[in-house]
Amino acid sequence: MLRIAIMVVAVVCSGRLWAQPTVKSGFEELDAWTEKCHQERPRTLGYPCNQVSDLTGFYKWYTDNGMENFLINNAGDPFGKVGALSSAKFEREVIEYFAPKYGFSTDDLWGMVTMSGTDGNNHGIYFGANYLQHLTGKQPVVYVSDEAHYSNYRLCDLQNLEVRLIKSDEMGRMIPDSLEAALDISRPCLMIYAMGSTFKGAIDDQKALNRVLARHPEMAVYRHVDAALFGGYLPFTKYRHLVDRREVEFESISVSGHKFFGIDSPCGLFITSRHVYENQTTFDIPYLNANMRMISCSRSGIEPLKFWWLIKNVGDKGWTAQANSMLECTVYLKERLTSIGWKCWSNEYSNTVFFTRPDDNIVSRFNLANSNDPRFGGRLSHVVVMQHVTKEAIDGFVDALKAQGKE
Ligand SMILES: *Cc1c(COP(=O)(O)O)cnc(C)c1O
Repeated sequence: MLRIAIMVVAVVCSGRLWAQPTVKSGFEELDAWTEKCHQERPRTLGYPCNQVSDLTGFYKWYTDNGMENFLINNAGDPFGKVGALSSAKFEREVIEYFAPKYGFSTDDLWGMVTMSGTDGNNHGIYFGANYLQHLTGKQPVVYVSDEAHYSNYRLCDLQNLEVRLIKSDEMGRMIPDSLEAALDISRPCLMIYAMGSTFKGAIDDQKALNRVLARHPEMAVYRHVDAALFGGYLPFTKYRHLVDRREVEFESISVSGHKFFGIDSPCGLFITSRHVYENQTTFDIPYLNANMRMISCSRSGIEPLKFWWLIKNVGDKGWTAQANSMLECTVYLKERLTSIGWKCWSNEYSNTVFFTRPDDNIVSRFNLANSNDPRFGGRLSHVVVMQHVTKEAIDGFVDALKAQGKE
């Protein structure tokens, strides 16, 4: 209990984590930019990035040992034979640590540390299409909601797959009846579930949508979950069942590493079952002594190490404290907005609050993200309550809104 309390304090108000730049680089423009980054950091409220990465000890270890002077490259399969200067052993341990949180069993598992949530979606879509093609000899149709992250549409375009955009309800969830009406049961179905629609922070009702799919047992189905943000914190909250495939059934999942987990550069997790892995087109590459399932050849060896470091130094306890404090601050933000009469909405399990859009200068000062929806009166903005969005930061933001209201 005591340890949890200490960690929350460290995240919320540690002097070291909020340290100001003091060391000059010798390049004026670089120093000016560094200073600007530090100033902007506490006011980036609109995007799902954790701005309190705690990798200081990691970088110290790395540079104290001169690890920055050579290349660690995880080209190849972390679950296969790996090269000498590779951190694949740690990559595999990272996947084995996270996989059970999404309901995968360690004896039916494959995965890797990706370059980003988008890279994980690219693999989910590619593995899904390959799997269905392998099983049925037919190209699938992709179904995804019109509120899902744009990367999914872009990637389907890139992979030359037919996409059907399914309408969402007003809170951002795919409408099961609209899915039913759009299904082409003569072709396999590649579902992409939005776990975190981009603007409203909705999770598709997978149980209801799976029931629609189950009405067509003759149609082969693969379900990929795009859980870039929510896949990070949900396993550490009372909403963990929403992201557990033993409860909601899916074949693969993509999660970002630089969103909830607090890695300081883009990366992520892609996890699927061994069964899916084994039903892919094979790419036997003799010069790598490997069967290359993943899309990229060279892959970062440093991001898996950062992940591994955070598992050891933050881990279940730290992430549980962070996740619950984020949800608490989300409730606080809604209460504060309501108390000044500012209309706002959110989904129950979500750390995203959307509200009537304030003046442009507030939008730009707090780096808010915008959207439009006539069902909520038109112009909207949202705040994503990540670890650096503390009650203090929320008070500063709500005071600015209040001041606007008085002008
Ligand atoms: C952020 C996000 C993405 C994109 O992930 P990156 O890690 O930025 O590539 C995809 N889907 C959802 C739901 C997201 O929140």
